[in-house]
Amino acid sequence: MGHDVIVVGAGLAGLVATKELADAGKKVLLVDQEPEASLGGQAWWSFGGLFLVDSPEQRRMGIKDSKELAWQDWLGTAGFDREDDEDYWGRQWAEAYVDFAAGEKREWLRRLGVRFFPVVGWAERGGYLAEGHGNSVPRFHIVWGTGPGIVKPFESKVREYRKTGVVDYRPRHRVDKLLQENGRVVGIQGSKLEPSYVKRGEESSRHVVGDFEFRAESVIVTSGGIGANFDLIRENWPSRLGNSPKEMIAGVPAHVDGRMLGITEQAGGKVVNRDRMWHYTEGIKNWNPIWPSHGIRILPGPSSIWLDARGERFSAPNFPGFDTLGTLDAIMKTGYDYSWFILTEKMIEKEFALSGSEQNPDLTEKSIRKLLSRVLPGPPAPVKAFMDKGEDFIVADNINDLVSGMNKLTGDNLLDVKGIERQIAARDREMDNTFTKDLQITALRGARNYRGDKLIRVASPHKILDPKNGPLIAVRLNILSRKTLGGLQTDLSARVLDDNGKPIPGLYAAGEVAGFGGGGVHGYRALEGTFLGGCLFSGRIAGRSVAEALGKGMVTGTSMVTS
Ligand SMILES: Cc1cc2nc3c(=O)[nH]c(=O)nc-3n(C[C@H](O)[C@H](O)[C@H](O)COP(=O)(O)OP(=O)(O)OC[C@H]3O[C@@H](n4cnc5c(N)ncnc54)[C@H](O)[C@@H]3O)c2cc1C
Repeated sequence: MGHDVIVVGAGLAGLVATKELADAGKKVLLVDQEPEASLGGQAWWSFGGLFLVDSPEQRRMGIKDSKELAWQDWLGTAGFDREDDEDYWGRQWAEAYVDFAAGEKREWLRRLGVRFFPVVGWAERGGYLAEGHGNSVPRFHIVWGTGPGIVKPFESKVREYRKTGVVDYRPRHRVDKLLQENGRVVGIQGSKLEPSYVKRGEESSRHVVGDFEFRAESVIVTSGGIGANFDLIRENWPSRLGNSPKEMIAGVPAHVDGRMLGITEQAGGKVVNRDRMWHYTEGIKNWNPIWPSHGIRILPGPSSIWLDARGERFSAPNFPGFDTLGTLDAIMKTGYDYSWFILTEKMIEKEFALSGSEQNPDLTEKSIRKLLSRVLPGPPAPVKAFMDKGEDFIVADNINDLVSGMNKLTGDNLLDVKGIERQIAARDREMDNTFTKDLQITALRGARNYRGDKLIRVASPHKILDPKNGPLIAVRLNILSRKTLGGLQTDLSARVLDDNGKPIPGLYAAGEVAGFGGGGVHGYRALEGTFLGGCLFSGRIAGRSVAEALGKGMVTGTSMVTS
C-alpha cells in the first residue's frame, strides 16, 4: 500500500493529525512502538482537563472570562523572554491557541461528541499580581469521561478509516531514523519489536525481531515528551531550579522516552527550550502501579498546610494548587526532594482529587450515581485506598503520633513536633476572626465565593488541631515528572524548522514533542488543561497543513490552515 503521509506516534496528537489527513482523503501510515492496547498514549490516562475561555459552562457557574483576560494570564504565566529565537514561534502559537480556546475549540469538540462536567475547576491560582502567573478565573473543564472521553472520537474515526484501508496502523514499529533525500524527509526506518501482550500503560519489551522502511510524501512526528526518561530530565534540568531531584516518581508511562527528539534532531530539526519542564510537587507513590515508578498527582484544594522536609511552612504564595513551578523551586532550595501536606479528614474528603482517568471512576465511567457519592461524608474511594494502602500517608489522632509517623516514614528524623504544632496553632488562631493576615486563609475564604469551589473543592475553613475535624493526615509529597514544555521548533503550519529557521521539507511535528506547538507554547509555566488542548490544536494544524500541501502537490506557504 502506498502512503501519502507517515505519522510517528499514536497518542492524542497523532490520532488527531491522522483523522484530519484521512478526512482529507490522504492515505496515512500510523506507526507506534507500543502495542495496540496503549493506543491513545498519555491522553487516555489523563484527567481530561481542558482549558476553555468564556464557555457556557463558565457562564453558568457565574464566571466572566474573556480572551483578553486569558491572554493576560497566559503572558504572565509564560514569561516569554527568548522572543528573537526560541520563543519566536512559541509565542505565536500561544496567541493562536488562546484564540482557539476562546473560539472554535469547544464547538469543534462538541460536534465530535465531547461533553463537559458542569463544574469548572480552578487550577494554577497564581497568588501574585494581576499580570503575574496563574488563572484569574476557573477555566479547567473536565471532559465527561476524562482521558478516554477525549481520545474516543479520534480513536473511533481512525479505527473506521483503518477498516476502509485509508489508515494503515502498525503497532510495535519503533522508528529509529528519518530517511532523507536531497534535504527532504522521505520516510522512516526502524525496528519491529516482538509482539507484546502487556496491558494498557504497562512497560513493553524492546526486543527487536526485524526491521522496516517506509516512504511517503511527508512525515509528522507526534512522539510525546521526555517525562519517563529521568536521565534526559536531569541532563536538561535548569540551574534556576537548583539541583535536579535525586528521587523522582514517574507521572507518565515508560514510552514517554524522548528518543524521537534526538532522532529528529539528527535529521536537522531544531530543539528549543529544553530547560523548560512541568513537573508536579504533589506526587504520591501508586500503591497499585501500572508503569515503572508510577506516581499519581494529587490535585489539591487550597487548605492543607504545606511544610518542607524540615517542617517549616512554605511562604506565600506556595499554597496547594497555586504555582506548581514556584513551589518546585522552593522545594528544591531546601536540599530535599520531598515535602509534606498536613490536613484534616474534613479537608481530604472535599479537597483531594487524584489526577488520572483510573483514579476518577465516576467521571471516567460517566456514572452519576458514583459522582453523587463525592458529596457524601468521607473521602472518595480512590483517595481512601491511598490512605489505607499508600506508603506516603500517615493518619493519626494527635499531632505527636502524626509527627512521629512522619519521622519514621522518611527515617530522616528532621521534624520537631513542637515547631509544627506551633505553626499550625498560629494558623488556627487566625480562624477566630473574619480578619486574617495569613494569605492562605484569605485565599480559601475567597475561593468559597465561587460556587464550584464551595460545592466540591474547598472545605469550610476550620481549625486543623481541633479533634472534631477528624483525625490528622500527613502526606509525603514527591516530585512527579510529567510534561515537557520545550521541543521541536515548528512554524504555524507545524513544519519542523532547522537551525537557520528554515522548514525541513517533508517534516512536521505536533503535540508534546513540539512543545505543544512552536517548540514551547507555554513558555516557562502553564495554566493547565493546555497540554491536551495543545495536542488537539497542533495535531489538527499538522494534519490540515500536510493535507493542504499535498493537495497542492507541493509543500508551500507559511500560513496556518484553520478552516
Ligand atoms: C496521568 C496524566 C494526567 C494528565 N492530565 C492532563 C489533563 O488533565 N489536562 C491536560 O491538558 N493534560 C494532561 N496530561 C498531559 C497530556 O495527556 C499529554 O501531554 C498528551 O496526552 C501528550 O500527547 P502526545 O500525543 O503528544 O504524546 P503521547 O501521548 O506521549 O504519545 C506519543 C506516542 O508516540 C509513540 N512513540 C514515541 N517514540 C516513538 C518511536 N521512536 N517510534 C514509534 N512510536 C513512538 C509512543 O509510544 C506514544 O504512543 C496528563 C498526562 C498524564 C500521564
